[in-house]
Amino acid sequence: MLGLETASNRDASQCKDNFTEIRPLMASMEAVVEASRCLFCFDKPCMLACPARIDVPGFIQKIRTANLQGSARIILEANILGESCARVCPAKALCEGACVMHKTGEQPIQIARLQRYAVKDVLDRQIRVLRAGRPNGKRVACIGSGPASLACAAELAKWGYAVTIFDRNELPGGNPSHSIPSYKVRTSDPLREVELVHQLGVEFRQNTEVGRDISFAELEELFDAIFIGIGLGDTSPLDLPGEDLRGVYGAKQFVRQTKMGRDKVKVGHRVAVIGAGNTAMGVLVGLKHLGVEAAYMIYRRSKEEMPAFEHEYELAKEHGVMFHWETQPVRILGKKGVVAGLECLRTRQGEPDARGRRELLPIPDSEFTLEVDMVIGAVGQKPATEFLRAVPGIQLRKDGTVLTNELHQTGNEKYFAGGDCAHGGKLVVDAVASGKAGARGLDAWLGMPRGTNAPETFGGAGAWAPVPAPSQTLELTAAS
Ligand SMILES: Cc1cc2nc3c(=O)[nH]c(=O)nc-3n(C[C@H](O)[C@H](O)[C@H](O)COP(=O)(O)OP(=O)(O)OC[C@H]3O[C@@H](n4cnc5c(N)ncnc54)[C@H](O)[C@@H]3O)c2cc1C
Ligand code: SF4
Repeated sequence: MLGLETASNRDASQCKDNFTEIRPLMASMEAVVEASRCLFCFDKPCMLACPARIDVPGFIQKIRTANLQGSARIILEANILGESCARVCPAKALCEGACVMHKTGEQPIQIARLQRYAVKDVLDRQIRVLRAGRPNGKRVACIGSGPASLACAAELAKWGYAVTIFDRNELPGGNPSHSIPSYKVRTSDPLREVELVHQLGVEFRQNTEVGRDISFAELEELFDAIFIGIGLGDTSPLDLPGEDLRGVYGAKQFVRQTKMGRDKVKVGHRVAVIGAGNTAMGVLVGLKHLGVEAAYMIYRRSKEEMPAFEHEYELAKEHGVMFHWETQPVRILGKKGVVAGLECLRTRQGEPDARGRRELLPIPDSEFTLEVDMVIGAVGQKPATEFLRAVPGIQLRKDGTVLTNELHQTGNEKYFAGGDCAHGGKLVVDAVASGKAGARGLDAWLGMPRGTNAPETFGGAGAWAPVPAPSQTLELTAAS
């Protein structure tokens, strides 16, 4: 029988798997042995491949000498989301992809797993390895509590700024808390890093939507500068007939439900995911972990043109996902208001256009129907242009992202921007790098001499504490 059903009514062990991490933690001996393989390259190609510029050989050396605190300090100084990034980063395409071991035909150093091993220890034992700077009298507001704002706030707090983060969600952390599938990162994981930022004295005002609960004029009056890190908006619509049927979701909305509702989320038996990016692959793997019978990927173009990383595709393949390349969805079919199928047709490539991208031509009489009871769109996210246009003086690019100068400053000199809202949909580590760059730009604009605000005290006066409200207790404890 087809139809949406609560995930926990399926195979309970599979449902549990959805919340089981895919990259297991390293044991101590394994970590030391792996660290000892590192050649500690002088030119650090692994570090240069990391957008957050973590000193990889530096932290690996400290693992080798059993100095885990020192190792974690190197990581967290460069990337306050060092543990989350060790889980969600496509390391094979970044640091591990650049490791010199490839040249000698050996396995690259397992940098991501070593990074997680080092940071986990200090987070588990709640050791404070970062310190807030001596107060410099300047106040900064960050809009959004995702990776970009967290990185910006942590840098500024280390230099002595008083920072307040405003976020409309109940829980801080942005997408890693809410929208990245649980098999990569559970909601409780980034909250441990949020606590590090909180310990630096950063204040968190959750359930506060800027533009609704607090106005731009109020922020401008209260703060010397404002950093915008609001990410992107909802998943773009599919623009297909039948999109309003029950059982049609956007990728972000669906993953959010699985993370927040855990095993109570309703899933179909046979699900089509439209799109071939990393988000689509992540949703497909997550669906298999939730016990769906058949998970189909539908993409208009060929496999060679898929935007997903090869390793994300391979993972989806290993999970038994079925791929329909060169397939155009035409309409979503329904029965009594619920999804009952997806009508598609096959495409072929025509002549290349001016940008070298080939036109897609429908193959006549190639229509077929996939029997599915759920359709998930994973065709990218829209920028939150309505919010951004309301910021006085701000300029947007054609694609709706925020236009900034080399200081990450917007058309309104008091506002800076970083992360997905400024550079479009990228990775968590790119948002961290962008948030750090925004902090440097903001600091340069405010002209605070760094020497006077050297770290002195530990912070800790913020309003948000990682003590879950009663309604969140289940989620936080059960997911960890
Ligand atoms: C489904 C999905 C899967 C992904 N998988 C991966 C992955 O595996 N690896 C990876 O590296 N990246 C992944 N990404 C991308 C990654 O999540 C983003 O690049 C990153 O989170 C961007 O960080 P950010 O701080 O710019 O924005 P976000 O993380 O989106 O955070 C923005 C925050 O701003 C808040 N906000 C918005 N408007 C307001 C307002 N008006 N007032 C107050 N607060 C507001 C939001 O509530 C949110 O908390 C994925 C993204 C999605 C959607
Ligand atoms: S490139 Fe590889 S071997 Fe060289 S320092 Fe980086 S992790 Fe070590």
